[in-house]
Amino acid sequence: MTTISKAISCHVRLRPSHPNDGKTNPDSIKISGNRIEALNKEGDKRYHFDLDKCHGQTSTQEEIFGSVRLLIEQVYNGQNSTIFTYGVTGSGKTHTMQGSRSDPGIIPRTVQAIFQKRSEMRSSISNIAFSYVEILKDEVYDLLGDRFEPRKRDIRMSAEGQNIISDLIVQPINSVTEFEILYDAASKTRKTACTKLNSSSSRSHAILTLYLDMIEDHNPSNRKSGKICLTDLAGSENNNLTGNDKERMRESSAINTSLTTLGKVVDALNLIAERGNRDSAGVFIPYRESKLTRLLQDALGGTSQGLLICCLAPGEKFARDTINTLQFARKSKAVENRIPVVDNSQRRASAPLPRAIKPINGNAAFK
Ligand code: ADP
Ligand code: MG
Repeated sequence: MTTISKAISCHVRLRPSHPNDGKTNPDSIKISGNRIEALNKEGDKRYHFDLDKCHGQTSTQEEIFGSVRLLIEQVYNGQNSTIFTYGVTGSGKTHTMQGSRSDPGIIPRTVQAIFQKRSEMRSSISNIAFSYVEILKDEVYDLLGDRFEPRKRDIRMSAEGQNIISDLIVQPINSVTEFEILYDAASKTRKTACTKLNSSSSRSHAILTLYLDMIEDHNPSNRKSGKICLTDLAGSENNNLTGNDKERMRESSAINTSLTTLGKVVDALNLIAERGNRDSAGVFIPYRESKLTRLLQDALGGTSQGLLICCLAPGEKFARDTINTLQFARKSKAVENRIPVVDNSQRRASAPLPRAIKPINGNAAFK
């Protein structure tokens, strides 16, 4: 049995002003409750958007994490969750997702919360592991596996119909400190890999996935697994205007394709939702048109619950991007997912054991 529910909650976060923002007009972006208003570039038209939550310039990392907590709770029930940050370069996506040592963002806070939960649940979370990949110019790289030389990875379909990355390292972790060491090294790999591939990390998508194995009722034969996928998307600016050499153009076109495909997937899902799922058999959802949407397929119209955080930069030069970002938020808000309803009595009788984390060659793979 499945229930149909709103798949993606849409939040915005407006970052504080910065000297590089150029001319700012306090009137150009206004937040009032869950409504945000944005003035167009010409200053003659005001757009408004009603979203699930609007975080203003004084919002803290802790406050943002407050919105994420509910999704993490669902992972303990064996549900998958996806959180992504969207917006132009410089709007605060990496700050929100990763943050800094002194002001940690969603990723370190999520790991901290999971280990905290594990100590409270007295070891019913049996395994915690993570993978970290980057998509650059529509190619996938493993940030845990390709420390010295970036190597392109294939995506294939698993027997359960899920898109999985070949030879992906899924690294078990036993403490927050262990995670921090590996994550810091992988974040540096992201930067060096981008340099080696003649690019910048603002032009790549980074997906960090946390995998949890759980034991129910202290009975090792009752197990379930959940995962949480934390995605820092490439800058959503109009990439046609960026750079003029051949390599840069190819890169721009890959970013445009992946974010445009993301938009097209959302449009198709909205059409299905509008038709009330009755007349939706002929609606084509173009997941396969980019690696990003293949990897996010589960989050978009699959079984996962999602949170989209649209990051906005103040400054009049961002006016067009702000409206584009908010339009993307508005359409994502309507997407529906099918969430399996787990009947525990039936699950115990008939469900196969969930996938477990098994070490392979000193690393680990989610099998
Ligand atoms: P993006 O990943 O979208 O390109 P960044 O996260 O790198 O943008 O943010 C650009 C700059 O703005 C960084 O120096 C970052 O520390 C700062 N910044 C972004 N959001 C905030 C915020 N909410 N509070 C304080 N500084 C921020
Ligand atoms: Mg960034």
